[in-house]
Amino acid sequence: MTDNADQFLAINQAADLILKHKVERLQVFPAAALKLLRLTNDEKTKVGDLSQLIETEPTLAAKVLRNVNSAAFALAHKVTSIKRAVSILGFSSVRQLALNQLLYNKLIHHQANKEFDQLFFWQHCLFVASLSRAIAKALNHQDPDLMYCAGLMHDIGKIVLETHGKVSYSDFLVACKGDEQTTLKGEHDFFGLNHAEMGFVFCQQWDIPEQIAAIVYCHHELPSNDSPYVKYTNDISIVHFANYIAWMQGIGSTTLNNPPELHSDISHHLNIQNLDLETLLSNVDNEMQHTREFYGIQFPGLNKLRATLIETALLLSHCKKPIDSSPKVLANDNFASLTVPHKSLDADKIVPWTLAAIQADFKFERIVFFEVKTKQRGLLASYCWPESLGNNLQKQLIKIESLPKVILNGLRERKAMVINDTQVHFVEGFNVEEFLLVPVLSQNRLIALLYIDNGKRKTALASNCITQITPIVHELGVALNNAKRFQLEKRRAEVDALTGLLNKRMVAEYLTATFQEDKEQLSKVAVGFIDIDFFKKFNDSCGHEAGDDVLKIVAQIMQTLTRPSDFIGRYGGEEFVFVLRNTTAKGAQCYAERIRLEIERKGKILEQRFHGHALTISIGVSLYDQKFSSYKQMIEAADAAMYTAKHQGRNCVVVV
Ligand code: GH3
Ligand code: MG
Ligand code: MG
Repeated sequence: MTDNADQFLAINQAADLILKHKVERLQVFPAAALKLLRLTNDEKTKVGDLSQLIETEPTLAAKVLRNVNSAAFALAHKVTSIKRAVSILGFSSVRQLALNQLLYNKLIHHQANKEFDQLFFWQHCLFVASLSRAIAKALNHQDPDLMYCAGLMHDIGKIVLETHGKVSYSDFLVACKGDEQTTLKGEHDFFGLNHAEMGFVFCQQWDIPEQIAAIVYCHHELPSNDSPYVKYTNDISIVHFANYIAWMQGIGSTTLNNPPELHSDISHHLNIQNLDLETLLSNVDNEMQHTREFYGIQFPGLNKLRATLIETALLLSHCKKPIDSSPKVLANDNFASLTVPHKSLDADKIVPWTLAAIQADFKFERIVFFEVKTKQRGLLASYCWPESLGNNLQKQLIKIESLPKVILNGLRERKAMVINDTQVHFVEGFNVEEFLLVPVLSQNRLIALLYIDNGKRKTALASNCITQITPIVHELGVALNNAKRFQLEKRRAEVDALTGLLNKRMVAEYLTATFQEDKEQLSKVAVGFIDIDFFKKFNDSCGHEAGDDVLKIVAQIMQTLTRPSDFIGRYGGEEFVFVLRNTTAKGAQCYAERIRLEIERKGKILEQRFHGHALTISIGVSLYDQKFSSYKQMIEAADAAMYTAKHQGRNCVVVV
């Protein structure tokens, strides 16, 4: 027997021992999903197969129809046949929809008290799938859809162990908390085989296409030269890389923070330099957003993502050896400043805390964080240690073009530099013989420059200070990038992308807070509901894009006519909400009338563009009343008033 056959036999035996039932008896995998995995888009007839398959799964069929009939496609007629839906949405996106939906329904069971969080896991699978396909496309892979399937399946072994192991994956996670060893080794010790091997046994038993089985098997350790799967190394590398990125983004498969290692050969197999990661990731993010909305899956909230992000970064800062540093430096100096940047996701805390920690670790006299201002092509001191330095510094912009050549060269090469030439000046008024400049990079982009000196004390900077500071500043850059991403994510979760108004979630949050105020304040609150009249007809005759523009126009008019102390938001489709404070029935009526009139007026101006279609809104307003025990009742009252306005002929305001 060959080594490979020996190995396969051994893992099959290990799987038998650890599972409650033999693999082929496991009810893990829906038959329809299997068929989907085997369907390829190579012949015309397959569209028929796909439609037929979907029609046999009622929930699936409903989802597909809902998707094709959603506002996004703006179809004039309702689509009721799956075949037609497939021809509109395209084979590959329907297959993807169906596969996601099936696996999600059949495999993922959210159990709140389990250590293995299956929803979090599912998010990871979707992300890796989507990113694998995006990378495959960017690298001209011949079958990006297959890479999607492989990405979705890569960690299937974890689910098998969780659902059918004599001990579960949750048990494993509890047992290995705080353990330093890698997850794969830990799994092997705990279960007798690791999740990649478990997944592989599963794929083989269920006859899942070999290419996918190979990817599942080797997604952590690329195949060796004598492996039968060496021919799939490129495919494997794609999923391996996507999986690594997912973890780095805080979207690992478990909330345990043990990120996988990136294989050192990966750049031999993938043309990573050719990938525009920023664009890839932002496309994948959009796709994830869409998936979430469509399935109505509530993934773990931002806070979880945030915590994972911080913990991952912390862990990395422990295990990453600072570049160029001798072992001695590492052994002696366990700098607090190395981890401090990751203690927050707010740049206004990250930077000052890091500067203070650097000062505590190294006793420098002055530290200044200069932010790169791209538009002004200059550097601006935004944080200093001690803070009092800021009073003089914060107003002067150091023009990049006025920098001495040696500094410019250092910046270009992204290199830290000690300047001890008294002819070279950097900060006006800082007359020192020696200073240190360290570029702060975020995803390889220069975002800031750290200035350090020992000022008047004239103590020379230690000879190894560059070596010691570099990894700290690296962490600072990573932390600032995380902070930026977090702010973006947070905004995305709060703001409606089309109109820029706060979304329904924020309306609820705002009103919940308002209802906790005292009765005196509350008695002066009015809530209004705005709904565009005949908007469906408008969309049908003027087009969805014009419809979107109208939504933006309404939002903009509301913004200009609303006091800063009041609140406005988009409640859903073509519905907006306002909350007025310190108002009366008359005041609320006036405000609502003003908005109604302004929109009517604007509609008249745009009449040509809107093919003579009038643009009007109906508004319902409810004033606070003792009988409301929660904000929801107040919204309902406003909504009911709005319907009364509709019945009264639309384009009017009703106050209750
Ligand atoms: P009514 O006067 O009774 O309110 O009639 P209506 O047509 O406005 O009401 P209905 O609730 O039937 O239709 C709302 C329409 O709003 C349907 C949907 O296509 C459209 N819509 C919802 N969200 C969006 C969006 O984001 N963009 C566009 N363009 N249209 C949207
Ligand atoms: Mg309407
Ligand atoms: Mg409506």
